[in-house]
Amino acid sequence: MTDPSTPARAPRPPKPIPDPRPGLSGLPDGGLESWLASEGQPAYRARQIRDGVWRQNAAAAEDLLTLPAALRAGLDRSFRMDTIAADEVTVADGGLTEKSLHLLSDGALVESVLMHYPARGFGRAGAGEDGRGSDGRPEHRERHTLCISSQAGCAVGCPFCATGELGFGRDLETAEILDQVRHAARRLAARKAHLTNVVFMGMGEPLLNLDRVLEAVAALSDPQRFGLGARHVVVSTSGVVPGIRRLTEINPQFTLAISLHAARDPLRDVLVPLNRRWPVAEVVAAARAHARVTGRRVSYEYVMISGVNDTDLDADALSGLLHGDLAHVNLIPMNPVAHTPWQASSPQRVTQFAARLREGGIGATVRRNRGQDAGAACGQLAANRAGEPPAPAVAHRRELIVRQSEVAMRGDRSVESLPADLEAAMAGRKGKR
Ligand code: SF4
Repeated sequence: MTDPSTPARAPRPPKPIPDPRPGLSGLPDGGLESWLASEGQPAYRARQIRDGVWRQNAAAAEDLLTLPAALRAGLDRSFRMDTIAADEVTVADGGLTEKSLHLLSDGALVESVLMHYPARGFGRAGAGEDGRGSDGRPEHRERHTLCISSQAGCAVGCPFCATGELGFGRDLETAEILDQVRHAARRLAARKAHLTNVVFMGMGEPLLNLDRVLEAVAALSDPQRFGLGARHVVVSTSGVVPGIRRLTEINPQFTLAISLHAARDPLRDVLVPLNRRWPVAEVVAAARAHARVTGRRVSYEYVMISGVNDTDLDADALSGLLHGDLAHVNLIPMNPVAHTPWQASSPQRVTQFAARLREGGIGATVRRNRGQDAGAACGQLAANRAGEPPAPAVAHRRELIVRQSEVAMRGDRSVESLPADLEAAMAGRKGKR
């Protein structure tokens, strides 16, 4: 039976024909120059094309009117100016949240969320209760933050997440990541605003598609391309320790966020199945080393689930884990998603949890959910398109969650293996879509 807390699932649109041309926005540094040379074109055209992609934000090669017609036709033959075939935008929170379901050329569906934060004002929708940004610092100016996806679906399989229920599709191409940003920038330009922050917290585990995520961040922070300072970018991970270590070696300018959700291994084994490979102490040790080497505070995201991870015991475990670290915790009440037996913690419980963390010396901010009134939790729009799973599969999933939770509540580690999708994704094998 369909969970009444979620909207009816819409039929999946017909599958488009895959387009083998690479996306123009994802070309690495020097890629345009190489292509122009191979076409016998002068190198100075690269600047004009880049301006067309990033300043003009053109949707089609034919819109690049500074180029000769033959070059426009050549570009169109070789590249896709836009890797997103169609958008479906759902507006929520009185216009403060715009959730986009993007249809890619092979039929994969990914989501991005554009969140508007009016200038200043404590208690504004979507802001922390203390008027602070996701890094814990005070925010006073108007902001427009885009949450983007790095993969179609996700292999990690967190049971509180609609994307996790969808399973893994495939890694996104660099251009498919960047074109989510270009689409949002186009909508913002129409209201004479611009993007101020980009967070990799949408569908997928960014550190399992790290090369492309790094290419995307490079394009976003390149003054010749999108021109957003890397300090306005956040990349999250559910705890891919080798990926965190690689980031520490690179020493990027962006903020690292850890999707923690539990400080105790038995519970985190259930909430974030990747914990069965890299336990919580290893994840936090890697994040601590990252903060020490880069000098930048690490954000910890903590979804609050009533009666599951929101007890005083959990708050104390979290305080103990992060004590003395350059860290900040963002508490996010769970979005209601189908096929879980769980509910969000009450506002009062979230406030008490935050207070207990602060007493323990840990900076904490309560975040408000976005897009709930549109049934637009992460992955939910794509899940609606995927269709309602068969009833036995839903029943099996619920039973599994309950059984695993009981093991966790006893304080025992999980004996379950990693989800099959996750094993495949970590081994670099292809997904199912
Ligand atoms: S919460 Fe993040 S890591 Fe977990 S399944 Fe959802 S998208 Fe993947």
